[in-house]
Amino acid sequence: MINVKDNLNKVKAQIQQACQQSGRLTPLAELSKQSSPVSLLAVSKTKPTSLVEQAYLAGQHDFGENYLQEAVEKIAELANLPEIVWHFIGPIQSNKTKQIASNFSWVHSVDREKIALRLNQHLTDDNCHDTPLNICLQVNISNEESKSGISIEQVFSLAKIVDSCDKLTLRGLMAVPEKNAPKACYEQMQQLFTQLKKQYPSVDTLSLGMSNDLDNAVAHGSTMVRIGTAIFGARENKI
Ligand SMILES: *Cc1c(COP(=O)(O)O)cnc(C)c1O
Repeated sequence: MINVKDNLNKVKAQIQQACQQSGRLTPLAELSKQSSPVSLLAVSKTKPTSLVEQAYLAGQHDFGENYLQEAVEKIAELANLPEIVWHFIGPIQSNKTKQIASNFSWVHSVDREKIALRLNQHLTDDNCHDTPLNICLQVNISNEESKSGISIEQVFSLAKIVDSCDKLTLRGLMAVPEKNAPKACYEQMQQLFTQLKKQYPSVDTLSLGMSNDLDNAVAHGSTMVRIGTAIFGARENKI
């Protein structure tokens, strides 16, 4: 049996330790109960709502999902949890933007102009969000052919487009580095994030780090780690 609450506590302790090791949290700051510079997104894809509920009851409010159909069903089932916040982190098909816009508070995987404009248009038409949709641009930092995401060169032009959409708030960057990616990948993400932050005051999020590379990501300035396996256990179907 998986103990979600224990796992959450372990992951939080690991984040805390990684912050201290990389000088992002001084012992003094810890004493004054400063909030963590790295927030935790619990990735619940393929996992039942009963486990999401367990995590919620243990104080976790932010959840990430990759597959729209699965997510929409879970979001409806858990609509009674007042403080739950849903993040879409999967590849986006342009004919699914309407459902994404109406069900999620965050989208981490925006990787083309068309998607940004469509999300903005749905929100304008439906007027269903009273707060703007939070957007991260997905960067294909390892230049993998199979991965979604823009190249480094495209970051600033897409950022400009998202920033000009009045129903979207540009929050930052997201990446999924390949397995055992070199440190240089993480350094590049950190640099890009720093540059983007200088240009756009709304940018405060570097969505980087999963169960296997959490420490590395925190050492390179991640402000939000996306953790699935370490909280909810392995996914059977390997997706
Ligand atoms: C599945 C997934 C995660 C979580 O990965 P774990 O290795 O299970 O922690 C994070 N980010 C994205 C984009 C994912 O697809």
